[in-house]
Amino acid sequence: MVDRNNVCKACEGTGMLADDEEWQYRCTVCKGDGHFFPGDTPEPSSLINVDENNRLLD
Ligand SMILES: [Zn+2]
Repeated sequence: MVDRNNVCKACEGTGMLADDEEWQYRCTVCKGDGHFFPGDTPEPSSLINVDENNRLLD
């Protein structure tokens, strides 16, 4: 079930992006699934958040 509001704006739902030389690569925003959800983070910062929340380091 696809919600139009959750279509990835970076790749427009295709899951693929192309650079200036037309090389295609998987969209890093939606991880290639073409959907973007509010919980998703465009930057790989989740590991840092986990450390902060769980306080693994004393
Ligand atoms: Zn995307």
